[in-house]
Amino acid sequence: MKKKVIVIGAGISGLATAYWINKSGYDVKVLETNSQAGGAMQSNRENEYLLDLGPNSGLETTPLIKQLVNETGISDEMIYANEAGNKRYILRNNDLHELPTKPIPFIQTKLFSLKGKLRIFGEPFFGKSKDGYYQSISQFVSRRLGQEFLDYAINPFVSGVFAGDPDKLSVKSAFPKLYRLEELYGGLVKGMFKGAKERKRNAEKSKQTAKMFSFKNGMQTLPNAISASLGENVIYNISDIKISKNGIKYKVDYSVNGENISEECDSVLSTVPAYIVSKYFSSFDNNLEKILKDVYHPPVMILYLGYKKEQIKRKLDGFGYLIPTKEKKNYLGAIWSSVIFQNRAPEGDEAFTIFIGGAQAPHLFDSPKEELINNVITEFAHLMKIEGEPKFVRNKFWAKAIPQYNLGYIEIEKYCDQFEENNPGLFISGNFRGGISVGDCVKNSELVYEKIKKYLEA
Ligand SMILES: Cc1cc2nc3c(=O)[nH]c(=O)nc-3n(C[C@H](O)[C@H](O)[C@H](O)COP(=O)(O)OP(=O)(O)OC[C@H]3O[C@@H](n4cnc5c(N)ncnc54)[C@H](O)[C@@H]3O)c2cc1C
Repeated sequence: MKKKVIVIGAGISGLATAYWINKSGYDVKVLETNSQAGGAMQSNRENEYLLDLGPNSGLETTPLIKQLVNETGISDEMIYANEAGNKRYILRNNDLHELPTKPIPFIQTKLFSLKGKLRIFGEPFFGKSKDGYYQSISQFVSRRLGQEFLDYAINPFVSGVFAGDPDKLSVKSAFPKLYRLEELYGGLVKGMFKGAKERKRNAEKSKQTAKMFSFKNGMQTLPNAISASLGENVIYNISDIKISKNGIKYKVDYSVNGENISEECDSVLSTVPAYIVSKYFSSFDNNLEKILKDVYHPPVMILYLGYKKEQIKRKLDGFGYLIPTKEKKNYLGAIWSSVIFQNRAPEGDEAFTIFIGGAQAPHLFDSPKEELINNVITEFAHLMKIEGEPKFVRNKFWAKAIPQYNLGYIEIEKYCDQFEENNPGLFISGNFRGGISVGDCVKNSELVYEKIKKYLEA
């Protein structure tokens, strides 16, 4: 009898882990409440515009992404960002400044003052800090690089990745690699040089150098392809999952299309969001709910705008821009989607993806949605020198978007480790453990698979 694993959730975390389990010869079944694969990775095409409702791209930080793409037969679908996408802008004083990545442009940029630049050069002279888990990103960055770098580089960057608040996110939980540079090498500059050698040995790319990818028909192509490769082992539209112990095995009861099903398995992996896990696992640990319900997922709205090329008077020569909180706008930034990837807008049009809300501005959603959208369109059009109304407007509201690895998050991580130790055969994964990006979820899927395999083989 082959050993069997039931995976709950068909987002990228669940599907990628199920893929490795299936590949190594175990039985695997994925149970998903939704009618489609992908979780946060959802893509639609409407009026020839491509809408990525969740992630608009990923960074190829691990060779596992390419492996999944090749083995599921979608290598022809994968696309990489245009060269122009390397140029990123930051808003300061109502002007877009290119984020400098090389020494000469850094010296010349007006994004930072002379004082701010000199402060950044002082970075190697600041020693190590004590505890990264209880240190916010703001504390870490302002100590090492100064307040101005925090406000005009890191603050918008944190909005772009986590839709988060740098005063609240834990530097070691949210950006472990950044903190590790200080921990291991004593500083960020020293660490960046020495860390590059280590990454080369591990065949991993840093987020600064990894290639940005997507697919001709959007990010959902990847989970769809993994799901297709697993065939009937992925079951959609399920409800009422109940997990109970059955000797050394587990029993999973669920309903699908009105039919009640009961399956026995050796191991259960949950990959659903943090605030849902305890729904299944709290009968095994009644503290789990209390611990996981506090993981904050701020609301985020994605707004898509389409314009005729001739309406746009500003040159589109980059990835888009991010907005520091200090600039006090109604949105976090905008991605020039049709500049970065082919196939995003009809011939003659340009498509933009705009982010609104996040941990620093959840209050924006207290006002009527239409009013907020109109305000954002006005601010965006003014900055981009756009004439006239957008010809295409869509939005997607995520009430609980991205888990925030805030101060003290280590306690949540430790609790999940302890839960798995106390309940052999039950595993917890998903974007609230080990990184929120698509790349991190894929990287993590292999680590979770290794843990499950070790358990099954013990
Ligand atoms: C708006 C937005 C923009 C983002 N942008 C980027 C980006 O540009 N680049 C990037 O790398 N990352 C980005 N991310 C982050 C990244 O997309 C996610 O962290 C990642 O896709 C999460 O995958 P997951 O499988 O862990 O969780 P999810 O995608 O949330 O999957 C969980 C699955 O569990 C299912 N589920 C829920 N409840 C149950 C239940 N009771 N029973 C069974 N199944 C259930 C859900 O339907 C879902 O399919 C973004 C996220 C959001 C929300």
